[in-house]
Amino acid sequence: VLVDALEAAGQSAGALAASRKYVEWLERHSAAQTRQALAELEARYAAAEREREIEALRQQGLIKSLELKAARAECDRSQESLQRQRLALGLVLLGALSVLVVAGLLWRLLRQQRAQADELARLARTDPLTGLHNRRALFEHFGKACRVDVPEGSQPILVVIDLDHFKRINDRYGHPVGDAVLRDLAELLQREVSPAGHVARMGGEEFALLLTGCSLSSAQMLAERLLQSTRDYRSPLAEVQGLRVSLSAGLAMRREGESPEQLYRRADRALYRAKESGR
Ligand code: GH3
Ligand code: MG
Ligand code: MG
Repeated sequence: VLVDALEAAGQSAGALAASRKYVEWLERHSAAQTRQALAELEARYAAAEREREIEALRQQGLIKSLELKAARAECDRSQESLQRQRLALGLVLLGALSVLVVAGLLWRLLRQQRAQADELARLARTDPLTGLHNRRALFEHFGKACRVDVPEGSQPILVVIDLDHFKRINDRYGHPVGDAVLRDLAELLQREVSPAGHVARMGGEEFALLLTGCSLSSAQMLAERLLQSTRDYRSPLAEVQGLRVSLSAGLAMRREGESPEQLYRRADRALYRAKESGR
């Protein structure tokens, strides 16, 4: 407007100077605008860059947290599996321990039962008063001895022994003394016969000897020795001074094919004859 007015007024120099100033101003003004626009652009770019960075960081954070979650889940899983393994191991150990305890108890029970069975078997074969074998045990030995193949002359020998007038001892001194005499006699027989044969109390005041690997003559000598030792017997009990005991014996050697019962009957008949011929 000023330039136009100055030109109209014919002031060309003034109009030029005004134009120059205007151009300078325009140049300054547009440079400032450009700089401002540039600055704005730069600021926007920086803001966008920051946002991208923030977004990238956020993404990274997300990924990290996912990774962390996955790692935590993996860790939980492995802890669970470890716990399961520990539990399984514990159960296996507990099972093994239980099996051991049950096996130990069973073993103890079995041993106790075996010991009881052995004790019962022993009692069933033992005479309670004297501790000698009883009739059942003697016949067991007898059966075994008869099954062994031995030549004639070495067959088993049975000696049946019966105390003479034992009733009188009971009547005179009482039953307990009779018992003590039976025990002493049992010891005496055991001492004399062992280890050549078995001694048994067959019942009452009757005993039997089973001799194996022994000749008839040495069996007869043994029986004589027993008769003598019984006559020599003196009871250690103070109240029975003067008590005398004697016994009668019947002896038989097994014949080929003879059963224990048949041999026993023959020995018993021999005993009866001994009693008949004067005890
Ligand atoms: P014998 O010479 O004829 O054999 O006469 P004995 O008196 O020995 O025979 P008898 O069969 O008449 O009598 C046996 C006696 O043995 C009778 C019984 O009281 C006694 N007796 C049997 N068993 C036992 C026992 O366990 N203890 C005691 N003290 N006596 C017993
Ligand atoms: Mg008798
Ligand atoms: Mg008798």
